[in-house]
Amino acid sequence: MRVNTLKRVAVAFALALPGAAIASVVAAPAAHADGCYTWQRTLSAGSSGNDVRQLQIRIAGWAGAGGIVRIDGRYGPETAAAVKRFQTAYGLRSDGIAGPQTFNKLYQLQDNDCTPAHFSYSELDDGCGRGGWSGGPLSADQTRANAVRTMWKLEALRRGLGDQPINVNSGFRSTACNNQVGGASDSQHLYGNAADLTSRTRTLCELARASRNHGFSGILGPGYPGHSTHVHVDSRRENNSDRTTNGTTWSAPNCGVGSGD
Ligand SMILES: [Zn+2]
Repeated sequence: MRVNTLKRVAVAFALALPGAAIASVVAAPAAHADGCYTWQRTLSAGSSGNDVRQLQIRIAGWAGAGGIVRIDGRYGPETAAAVKRFQTAYGLRSDGIAGPQTFNKLYQLQDNDCTPAHFSYSELDDGCGRGGWSGGPLSADQTRANAVRTMWKLEALRRGLGDQPINVNSGFRSTACNNQVGGASDSQHLYGNAADLTSRTRTLCELARASRNHGFSGILGPGYPGHSTHVHVDSRRENNSDRTTNGTTWSAPNCGVGSGD
């Protein structure tokens, strides 16, 4: 009650100010960040640093058809293009420059624990029920960081599908868990780089086709052996710790999805 009264007073005061002052009064509270990460400057082509890297992690799902956004802390053309797609997808001015408008949208989409709004650590860290991100080839911290990157791509995919819920059946798997479920020996699931998806409102083929636009270099779905009940997506091209080449592998023959699309 008391807070409301104070707010009303503040609004009345703002309305009494000349135009320019009103703009600054209205704009100021919007730049409120959260417990995860706060950007301190506007970023654009040529910028570099950890703040660019943090941005890249969050917009990598907007890499465009067949593309990836390298998480290298350098704001190059692929970062600018992904920022533009992100801005368009959320109805912001699409200029490829990451300023307050873009950051505020990211804060909105971001939980205090750095996961995007619609995905959580517990969802990706099943490990056959054990959890904790350990027991794979990478450290628990590295695995968890990969899972965060996977989740931001999933958040983009979800938006790209028209804000449709996506279920993750399997995310990170320890080596023991991967053996137990009969996963591939060097599966991207071991690295926190993969997710097996279903949706109640979209077909598996719709998931597989849309995934091509959201930074996933690995897509396996209907028509690929063992993938008739889910779509597997991963980031194998960005994985320098596995034993496979950093290429793109798409195979969902029943959906018209194959490498070279
Ligand atoms: Zn999988």
